[in-house]
Amino acid sequence: MKIICVGRNYAEHAAELQNEVPDEPVLFLKPETALIPKRNPFFIPDFSEDVHYEAELVVRIKKLGKNIQEKFAHKYYDSVTVGLDFTARDLQKKLKEKGLPWEKAKAFDGSAAIGKWMDLSELEHPNTPSFHLLLNNEKVQEGNTDLMIFGINRLIAHISKYFTLKIGDLVFTGTPAGVGRVQKNDILQLFLEDQQVLQLNVK
Ligand code: MG
Repeated sequence: MKIICVGRNYAEHAAELQNEVPDEPVLFLKPETALIPKRNPFFIPDFSEDVHYEAELVVRIKKLGKNIQEKFAHKYYDSVTVGLDFTARDLQKKLKEKGLPWEKAKAFDGSAAIGKWMDLSELEHPNTPSFHLLLNNEKVQEGNTDLMIFGINRLIAHISKYFTLKIGDLVFTGTPAGVGRVQKNDILQLFLEDQQVLQLNVK
């Protein structure tokens, strides 16, 4: 299983990190070891003073595919959830400045969390699902696939040009504005539409 992540897929988030809005999706990968096991907390790694939460809609691939056409991409998934793409922002900044790969800042152990899977048919708005993140009971991020620069089907088409998609692969579709630092004892709650799909404690 691999995790494919999309960067800068919401214009307001690109702006908050002073990044340009891209003309094609920005992609990076996380290994399977990045995923936090069920019911485990998120442990802040000792190599960063500035780990950020990034709440994102996550899609699970259900069919093997390569060079998938956008018009057929919907056949490759039917489960979605909300996840967290934890980012060591201080380390990422240093790597970006040197033009180096982001993996140490983005793909470290525990850098990905996912909530309970929901079938698209269970959602009120399966074509434009909304999601949000509460940090210590306060809403800090909200998103809707409507606001994405590249929609899910376009992402799947683009990703599968470069990487064969296998059953169980996860696509993190990018974070909306409102990212911020996590601190010890924070409680993160992720919602897909009005359903809580994950609560994660920070240690
Ligand atoms: Mg992200």
